[in-house]
Amino acid sequence: MTSAVPGTAFEPAQRVRAIGVSEILRITDHANALKRAGRPVIVLGAGEPDFDTPEPIRAAAARAMERGDTRYTVLDGSPAMKAAVQLKFRRDNALDFALDEISVGAGAKQVIFNALMASLNPGDEVILPAPYWTSYADIVQICGGVPVSVPCGEANGFRLDAAQLEAAITPRTRWLFLNSPSNPSGAAYSAAQLAPLCEVLLRHPSVWVLADDIYEHILYDGHAFATPAAVEPRLRERTLTVNGVSKAYAMTGWRVGYGAGPRALIEAMAVVQSQSTSCPSSVSQAAAIEALTGPQHVVAERRNDFQARRDFVVAALNRAPGLHCRVPEGAFYTFASCAGVLGRRTRGGALLQADSDFCNYLLQDFEVAVVPGSVFGLAPYFRISYATSMAQLEEACARIAAACEALE
Ligand code: PMP
Repeated sequence: MTSAVPGTAFEPAQRVRAIGVSEILRITDHANALKRAGRPVIVLGAGEPDFDTPEPIRAAAARAMERGDTRYTVLDGSPAMKAAVQLKFRRDNALDFALDEISVGAGAKQVIFNALMASLNPGDEVILPAPYWTSYADIVQICGGVPVSVPCGEANGFRLDAAQLEAAITPRTRWLFLNSPSNPSGAAYSAAQLAPLCEVLLRHPSVWVLADDIYEHILYDGHAFATPAAVEPRLRERTLTVNGVSKAYAMTGWRVGYGAGPRALIEAMAVVQSQSTSCPSSVSQAAAIEALTGPQHVVAERRNDFQARRDFVVAALNRAPGLHCRVPEGAFYTFASCAGVLGRRTRGGALLQADSDFCNYLLQDFEVAVVPGSVFGLAPYFRISYATSMAQLEEACARIAAACEALE
């Protein structure tokens, strides 16, 4: 028998111990393991479009490889890529950025990571309107900051209001994160809804804004997209507007995201990136240039597909006894309340006390994987990603309804 020599066992660093593996990935992995074991599990966990990257984008990447665009590029994005981002911001958001106010990374996630790594000192606070994308809180913690979750209830459409923002700001507040349309709630802010938040921010000049606009193009029912730097130009000097190609162009695996904001922040972010990935992939940047500057009709086509799925899922959830789902304005998620099934028992006798119990029950007894709202900082809810085929959604919603009906 071997015994570990004292001092040789691997000890994860403090900063990693605090966060662990993403709960969404854990649930998805568990569901996939059940699938491999032969169980017909439907996984509605991942936030990933189910269609392929459009052909012209793939062709642009192939051309880049043939041309020999296979070397390191400029640290935070090639000049051509930054020019494409500049064009996108002008065309879609009426925002003007110089090339050195633009940063390109391996996904919006890396851009957000760079921004926090470059700006947070230990104990600095970051306001996260809940429900929020779980990675925000984890990245804040890795970077030594403190996530400050502000629950934004359904009564206000899961949106932060001005009084809540005012109350959450302290002398340690460094950033406010806004994500519209939101993962996980699908809620979006109109320009009129952003304006009162901007008013509060104008009174607190040391608070910066990170606008995560990654779901910009997945917005339904004619809602107009709005982003803080455009709504309130006086905030432009302390706003980082983040976006990417993953969701709009079905390019999650290419790993390209970008941000635009004040030059000093962008420079500090480049320092961080220079010591992690050096630069985003050269071939992926070529693909992303085509995505941002090429024909944009694919974006609208996909939006229509997603809207049909949203309508179906929301209606199905609202028919299930004990569930209630608000109509989300955008993204490809529903965030339904399961308050009405808590306190009930499964046929096996288990008491459902929390949203995670309901989600476990759905997975174990009805083979549908969804993510509990508590993971996103707001309970009792559950998130469905409807970026999957209508056939899968029909079957999944039938199982969810059956699960609710089977409760005692
Ligand atoms: N922001 C939000 C709100 C997201 O949901 C995601 C992806 N799940 C990202 C950013 C990251 O996107 P990517 O790194 O693929 O650009």
